Amino acid sequence: MPVYEYEHIGKPCRRGQVFEVRQSIHDKLLTHCPDCKKPVKKLISRVGISTPKTNRELRDLGFTKLVKRDEGVYENVTARDGESPVMIRGKPETIPNLKKTIRD
Ligand SMILES: [Zn+2]
Repeated sequence: MPVYEYEHIGKPCRRGQVFEVRQSIHDKLLTHCPDCKKPVKKLISRVGISTPKTNRELRDLGFTKLVKRDEGVYENVTARDGESPVMIRGKPETIPNLKKTIRD
């Protein structure tokens, strides 16, 4: 189901000023926030900009993603060749090699 973005016209509630709602294309567009019942407007969808979802897509786009595995230990799930698969606090040799990532 597609995700639609809505913006509170007035003050935001706990959902935030802009929030996303997953709706069927058959559902009516919201005119009011499901939480605070205040008026909202639908934002123009960002056509053509898709959010990378997999670690591989992120890596191919040049992102480095670190996932916390333990106190001070981060797995580099987008590790490239020669990069350490984990980053450990206090061990600079495990920091992702950005010089290698940034080539142009
Ligand atoms: Zn609201």
